Amino acid sequence: MSVIYHPQKYKLEDLPMQNFIDSDEIWEILKRNENPTPERVREVIARSLDKHRLSLDETAVLINANTPDLIEEIKNGARELKERVYGKRIVLFAPLYIGNLCVNNCAYCGFRTDNKKQKRITLSSEEIRAEVEMLEDSGHKRLILVYGEHPKYDAAFIAETVRNVYSVKKGNGEIRRVNINAAPMDIEGFKVVKDAGIGTYQVFQETYDRNAYLKVHLGGKKRDYDWRITALDRAQEAGIDDVGIGALLGLYDWRFEVLGLLRHVNHFEAVYNVGPHTISFPRLKKASGFEVKPEFDVSDEEFTRLVAILRLAVPYTGMILTAREPAHIRDEVLQFGVSQIDGGTNIEMKGYSSKKDQQDLDHEQFTIGDNRTLNEVMEELLGHGYLPSFCTACYRLKRTGEHFMEFSVPGFIKRFCQPNAMLTMAEYLEDYAPAETREKGYKLIAENLKDYQDEQFREKLIDRLERVKKGERDLYF
Ligand code: SF4
Repeated sequence: MSVIYHPQKYKLEDLPMQNFIDSDEIWEILKRNENPTPERVREVIARSLDKHRLSLDETAVLINANTPDLIEEIKNGARELKERVYGKRIVLFAPLYIGNLCVNNCAYCGFRTDNKKQKRITLSSEEIRAEVEMLEDSGHKRLILVYGEHPKYDAAFIAETVRNVYSVKKGNGEIRRVNINAAPMDIEGFKVVKDAGIGTYQVFQETYDRNAYLKVHLGGKKRDYDWRITALDRAQEAGIDDVGIGALLGLYDWRFEVLGLLRHVNHFEAVYNVGPHTISFPRLKKASGFEVKPEFDVSDEEFTRLVAILRLAVPYTGMILTAREPAHIRDEVLQFGVSQIDGGTNIEMKGYSSKKDQQDLDHEQFTIGDNRTLNEVMEELLGHGYLPSFCTACYRLKRTGEHFMEFSVPGFIKRFCQPNAMLTMAEYLEDYAPAETREKGYKLIAENLKDYQDEQFREKLIDRLERVKKGERDLYF
């Protein structure tokens, strides 16, 4: 039975804890919006630029617009929206893999339980501290901790690792926000992890199509589609209002997955009055004992299109692109709406302290395409005029979930995110950047300061930048 939504607020206990994805409905929406006229496509782009989240039908119009001219118009629209809403800031983070024990058998994953070649490792408390010190020494302030699904990685274990990470301070180095990518929990488990002070809890549905899901999730708890699709409802019920959703592109038709993601967004808005904090759209990659089969392969052309379409569909949701993608693809799609990327990424177990040149797939979950150091990524961003940001202000000022949404409507980003990006970037330039990068960074900050007409606010910002140069840290708006 499918659950049809109406824009009124539901209580979770009033709703069956079940899947809200109706595959037939999604294919019906894609079908009834085939061959859209250029006028219809422009109408939808304009609605998004007018800061409306798009409906599934409107998004299907953009998905079905496949002439080169219309695709270019969609990309131009996404570029403009990104500029208007996010300005130049790009948030940086790094992943840290804590343990690769896993009871599940996901066909595409190097950590799957029947992959005997994978070296199974769970970082000890000391090993976690060593990795975090390496990440702090490179300038990171925001991490995402990643775990396989295993009884050993229960809520108490995850909470303990989060507290351990926050407790590592080296020089001016500290981690100010810890996000989690781990298995679904029950409400009590989510409460335990929340109490450890996490930021976003990410659970990717991988594919929203139930049949495609069962084809690749061959064993273990993860085979339970309904338990997974309702995971972040339980997280919200536990008080975690910053959640991250995602689809693993290549498991099923990308057009279906884009509407699946959007259905997930409007489910949260209907039930919790707030959308997810972030959306991720990783593409399937080679893994230990796994080769990508082309059945639903997403080409680079389709990938850049879907990033632009997602940007227009959900103007206020953070969009994350990881180092799975090679540098040239990352650099290209940044302009269409990606707001968060990782930098200096190493997904090998104990990878940051072991510093191997070559990737060893039997020590990691999948192949990554971008091996640049954090400073090389910073240089690339500065070169394109982007403002790299390590900001964590909203999270620490409890501007999250519904409260975050209110703020992130008119001008919030310019008033808070951009200045905070400059302040966290200045910390990086003072503590970690080589002279050449420092010079480029301060030149860009000077250019961006010109944007502020409000003399009083500009003075306040300049004063804080000067205080960072004199050694103060952790200043934000
Ligand atoms: S994708 Fe996650 S749950 Fe599946 S095998 Fe890999 S680590 Fe385990």
